[in-house]
Amino acid sequence: RKQDDTGRIIILTDEKLPFYYRIRLNEYIGGTLEEQDLVARKADWYAERRIELITGTRVIDADPEQQIVRTENKQQFSYDRLLLATGSHSYLPPIEGVNQQGVFTLRTVDDARRIISFAETREKVVLVGGGLLGLETGSALLGKGKKVTVVEFFPRLLPRQLDTKGAARLMQIMQDRGFSFRLGTSVREIAGGGAVASVHLQKGEILPADMVIVSAGVRPNLEPAQRLGLATDKGIIVDSTLRTSRPEIFAAGDAAQFGNHLYGIWPAAMEQGRAAGTNMAGGGVIYEGSTPANKLKVGGIDLAAAGEIDAEDRFESRIEETDTVYRKFVIDDNHLVGCIMLGDTADFARTVRAINEQMDITQIKLP
Ligand SMILES: Cc1cc2nc3c(=O)[nH]c(=O)nc-3n(C[C@H](O)[C@H](O)[C@H](O)COP(=O)(O)OP(=O)(O)OC[C@H]3O[C@@H](n4cnc5c(N)ncnc54)[C@H](O)[C@@H]3O)c2cc1C
Repeated sequence: RKQDDTGRIIILTDEKLPFYYRIRLNEYIGGTLEEQDLVARKADWYAERRIELITGTRVIDADPEQQIVRTENKQQFSYDRLLLATGSHSYLPPIEGVNQQGVFTLRTVDDARRIISFAETREKVVLVGGGLLGLETGSALLGKGKKVTVVEFFPRLLPRQLDTKGAARLMQIMQDRGFSFRLGTSVREIAGGGAVASVHLQKGEILPADMVIVSAGVRPNLEPAQRLGLATDKGIIVDSTLRTSRPEIFAAGDAAQFGNHLYGIWPAAMEQGRAAGTNMAGGGVIYEGSTPANKLKVGGIDLAAAGEIDAEDRFESRIEETDTVYRKFVIDDNHLVGCIMLGDTADFARTVRAINEQMDITQIKLP
């Protein structure tokens, strides 16, 4: 709208809630955030910008020649420019018993509502996947008095955000809070006659469970793109203008693949969305990629990581270690390329900026 004051803008979403802070769903599960506070923009925001928001409406078909999309409830919309920001869905690994009552994934507010309601009368929760999302959900449920066990295939927590040392320190902190962990093993079967009763691990152990939450990563939602005959790989392939293989169709966010990158993170979706929106309205923004940056959103634990974390010790690094802090700054050819911050994330934003701008390390204060 900033770029073009007059064009008609329509947003279609299959969810009932308008654009909301998906990243805060675990606070909602933990009871520290009300559902209405998840909603990012109120109705007047859309009205002021003359954006027509149509919720609860799923796009099921599209015709790229006629330039129309069709919805499940038999409406159709024509377009001059189309943005596919269809996001991603939780990946459910093909584990025996994964489709029974008591097994959940978390992606939408509906998923969160189901988890809250089911957890009310349950005690033992097994989380499959020790990534950021799994740990945040575990923490929310721990706060509600549940007994939480995390099963992680990797031999350490947060394999994409932490090196061995950082992961060991985080694990100690989380165990002190009441988490149980089973690392370096995977789930062979979720047992129960239609409703979860236990989780059988590859290593042979059987964990009693009332509910299981699977946090095993996400996969882009590609259906509309495939119907439109767009080039896809793991995601919808976009160029640096966020155009897909058809110049009038753009993609952004979790569904888009830029080079080899499927970012799957909020800041990348925002950056891509901004560039795509501007370009759809005639602008000329060039998107150059995003730096993977993540924070663990668990009260009382400061943890953030960005860029190359150098889990294999291939790069030069500077490390700062005290009883409560572990910080690692990864350097390649005199440039800061990544960091891990545990216990003190005060200058995380500044550090991410330094990584983005490929600053020379002589310009930055490092340990
Ligand atoms: C619990 C949780 C915590 C997270 N925490 C963080 C975090 O701390 N930091 C971070 O960077 N990222 C986090 N993420 C990831 C972040 O939420 C995503 O990267 C971001 O939401 C991607 O935005 P998007 O607009 O591409 O997709 P989405 O937010 O998934 O939005 C896509 C929308 O399109 C709708 N849609 C899909 N297909 C259709 C269709 N055919 N018709 C109509 N509508 C359709 C979907 O229902 C959805 O509403 C978290 C995710 C979850 C689930």
